[in-house]
Amino acid sequence: MNINKNKKPHVLCIPFPSQGHITPMLKFAKLLHSKGFYITFINTEYNHNRLLKSRPSSSSSSSSSSSSSLDLFEDFVFETIPDGLPPSGEDVTQDIPSLCESLSTKCLFYFKEMVTTRLSSPATFIVSDIFMGFTSNVAAELGIPLVLFWSASACGLMCYLHYKHLIQANLVPLTDESDLETKVEWIPGMKNMRLKDMPTFIRTKDINDIVLNYILKDMERVPKASALIMNTMHELEQEVLTAMSSIITLPTYTIGPLSLLSKQLLPTLGSNLWKEDMSCMEWLAGKKASSVVYVNFGSVAVMSKKQMVEFAWGLANSEHEFLWVVRPDLVRGDNAVLPQEFLTKTQGKRMLTSWCPQEDVLKHEAIGGFLTHGGWNSILESICGGVPMLCWPFFAEQQTNCRHMSCEWGIGMEIDEHVEREEVERLIRELMGGEKGKEMKKKMVELKEIAFRGC
Ligand code: UDP
Repeated sequence: MNINKNKKPHVLCIPFPSQGHITPMLKFAKLLHSKGFYITFINTEYNHNRLLKSRPSSSSSSSSSSSSSLDLFEDFVFETIPDGLPPSGEDVTQDIPSLCESLSTKCLFYFKEMVTTRLSSPATFIVSDIFMGFTSNVAAELGIPLVLFWSASACGLMCYLHYKHLIQANLVPLTDESDLETKVEWIPGMKNMRLKDMPTFIRTKDINDIVLNYILKDMERVPKASALIMNTMHELEQEVLTAMSSIITLPTYTIGPLSLLSKQLLPTLGSNLWKEDMSCMEWLAGKKASSVVYVNFGSVAVMSKKQMVEFAWGLANSEHEFLWVVRPDLVRGDNAVLPQEFLTKTQGKRMLTSWCPQEDVLKHEAIGGFLTHGGWNSILESICGGVPMLCWPFFAEQQTNCRHMSCEWGIGMEIDEHVEREEVERLIRELMGGEKGKEMKKKMVELKEIAFRGC
């Protein structure tokens, strides 16, 4: 344990334990550190061990070279709490409902024990992911101010804040799949929404559904916090942010895209749970500008083997070069193995890997389009690279993001959930060279300029 020698204000930062939440929280923590705060960053034990394992082997530090610790800097330390789940396999994305159940029933105790017995100096305030509900109880009990951190889109948050209204309107739980077509036109600041565009945790027939109730509880605590910090751009989500300001009155700050944060800040502290394959950058180095399709479905999305094969043939038949990140657990219940015929046909035109330095990839001039699942970090990183998108939303607020990127912001197109190779091929051709692709690229370049202007 480092000692807070200079008696700096001490901030505890606690992300939800998944990649898309850890990365922006770590960036925000680095930002606070650069402004003179002492940081204790709290991960689950499982993720902390993965962070240690995935560190680049050349990583060195300013004060210690131990690879068994992330405490490399003065005034920036790591702590862990158990996630309460039984041990899982190495490097696998944890099951979200099990994680929510465990976090809500077991972590209050672990977190309180950590705060009361293991800190080097008293906490000045806590920055907690909205989805770590137990932090509210601990903050209230110990009298520590609580700042909530939202790592996703404002449109996503606006939908979650309206989950209770969907229940009151008897739209949730669903009675039938066809309910998803129901229009939801009364959410302030949001247009042309259908139930299918809402974050997917309403897709249940059970009012006691674990994740639905987990989120309902988390939303109740939002108005009671001291402040709300969101990783979004005001210029992008202006309408929904304005509408939100009339229903949430606590101080709210938009600080995105955090992906633009200088890489010079504590550069050896990375947030990758998987080891990055840096050879992607060498492969991209020889490619023509805007010629490569980048394909990555993030850290949680899974698909069927059939869907993966349809994506593969759509890519191959588009005749474009592509960089495809295939996580080993991308295919539901199976290893992600691509057909030999596809591998033979695309030889020399593709690079496949299991994890890449995405922010760098999206900034590379060779990338012409991004086939994504529509995770919020991926969208912001794509904006920072000025890269138009093709979106296959998987779950959570990805559906809401996808609706907005395609119908409101004009920076993406949607792929049908069933995935047919002909559609994939057609949309990739459009993305990479069609009229729509060019229009989207223009909008992306404008947004990129706006994002950089805010730096
Ligand atoms: N990411 C990465 N390399 C990969 C895949 C993903 O660095 O090969 C990072 C990506 O840059 C982003 C995060 O993982 O910051 C994924 O977050 P996102 O919100 O896009 O999706 P999620 O994984 O939460 O579904």
